[in-house]
Amino acid sequence: MESAVERALRTRIISWVQERAEANGGFLHRAELLDFRIDEQRLPIIDYSRGIRNPASFESTLSIVSATNGPYDDTESEDGLLHYSYREGDPWSGDNRKLRNAMATGAPLILFRKEVPNIYTPVSPVYVVEDYPEERTFIIALDESFTFVPDVRRMPDNQRSYARRLAKQRLHQPAFRTRVIVAYETRCAVCELKHGSLLDAAHIVPDSDERGIPTVNNGLALCKIHHAAYDQDMLGVTPDFKVRIADNLLEETDGPMLKHGLQEMHGRSIQVPKRRADHPSQELLAWRYERFIAQV
Ligand SMILES: [Zn+2]
Repeated sequence: MESAVERALRTRIISWVQERAEANGGFLHRAELLDFRIDEQRLPIIDYSRGIRNPASFESTLSIVSATNGPYDDTESEDGLLHYSYREGDPWSGDNRKLRNAMATGAPLILFRKEVPNIYTPVSPVYVVEDYPEERTFIIALDESFTFVPDVRRMPDNQRSYARRLAKQRLHQPAFRTRVIVAYETRCAVCELKHGSLLDAAHIVPDSDERGIPTVNNGLALCKIHHAAYDQDMLGVTPDFKVRIADNLLEETDGPMLKHGLQEMHGRSIQVPKRRADHPSQELLAWRYERFIAQV
């Protein structure tokens, strides 16, 4: 059984991580996670060198880190669940014991995706749902309901597609947001607003299209209003990075948001990331701009 103290601490840490990530734009910096304190006592939320955090006073694992290469995590399986390898050494003691304990007690943990050095995207709560000793692997699920599935390897199709949908919402979209917002240095490409909590990662080619992949080149960091305007073709971006506002909006007369927030953006250049490799793809911008033109 998980102790009441541990459970209360865990709940507090998970909420703190969620709030802090939301304020930053969906991620936390390494230093924030290492310097976390509870009642003056330092309680790091990650173990920087080991990728799994098992505080000495905790019976179950608090957090795990998965490093990613590219838009998809290689620990992810086709079924939308995560395959987490046993830690080195004895499968029945230390880190492995505490992970197994999280499975036994159903204790929620935090999965951090490390998209960029020193930047962590939290996915929480997640649950350890299976243990495959012969493969030295734990299965991690994004929803408590999977703890009730007798064998996740033989999940019925409807559950499998639910797991995949969940992976898209809770793993891929947050990871995309982090990569884009970090590349744009937490700044709206159109108006330069610098509040992470008011920024989104907009897809240039929507993710419903097969070319709408979650890479930085298919993204723009936009504030909430410019994101919505972009999605509704009220605002367009030309392949050479110029902002265009739809004609009907330019002709309207209204208050300061229309005037300063939209009309005055017409003709400005978007702010692109410093790294050339992170620039939005001109080809994808051209595809999207065609759609904008067709609407106007
Ligand atoms: Zn903006």
